[in-house]
Amino acid sequence: KAAAGSDKEWIIATDTVFKPFEYTDESGNFVGIDVDILAAIAEDQGFKYELQSLGFDAAAMAVQAGQADAIIAGATIKQERIDSGWIFSEGYYNATQTFTVAADSDIASYEDLSGKNVAVKQGTAGADFANSLKDEYGFTVTVFEDSPSMYQDVILGNSAACVEDTPIMASNIKEGGLALKIPEGMESEGAPYGFAIMDENDQELLDMFNAGLANIKANGTYDEIIAKYLGE
Ligand code: GLN
Repeated sequence: KAAAGSDKEWIIATDTVFKPFEYTDESGNFVGIDVDILAAIAEDQGFKYELQSLGFDAAAMAVQAGQADAIIAGATIKQERIDSGWIFSEGYYNATQTFTVAADSDIASYEDLSGKNVAVKQGTAGADFANSLKDEYGFTVTVFEDSPSMYQDVILGNSAACVEDTPIMASNIKEGGLALKIPEGMESEGAPYGFAIMDENDQELLDMFNAGLANIKANGTYDEIIAKYLGE
């Protein structure tokens, strides 16, 4: 964790692969919407940081343990997280979580998942969504460390579905040519993503994030970043 002072370098933790919010591109650079938003905000607010790509759950645990100051990882603003000590910024992107199945699957409803397995990513809103439905619809849940492993488990036919954030899933199916599809009506309520601290002593960082976010929204940088990765 960074020492106090004007030269303070904040440690900010993120996921490994949550494309297009964070991922390693073909040239080996770690890029994405979260990566660019954080860079633009840090430049606007004049703070230094080191971004650590740890995985979603590992990033959350690092902040919880005080090994990192904040998380930016397409993290859904959820009441359960607020209750357990996450202190979120203003929201910066809205997303639902959706079940996703193999391209040739007949699964079209929760009832069709009875007796089957669903792949989720450790500690995510998607995992919570699957767990909230599994008893009612009689499916089991297997937990993976990262999104690509979860997608592969469905492509290989081990799991009948996975649960991922809808814009991430749609983008990966389109850009990555994955043999997966998103059935209609198997998604959660939408909620915004937020940057988060878990120690109130880091309020200064949260305040800078919020101020910088407002500035990059006002000056068009935010829209440029979204367009660069998601089009339009
Ligand atoms: N938005 C989801 C969550 O907050 C997934 C985030 C992620 O996998 N990086 O749990």
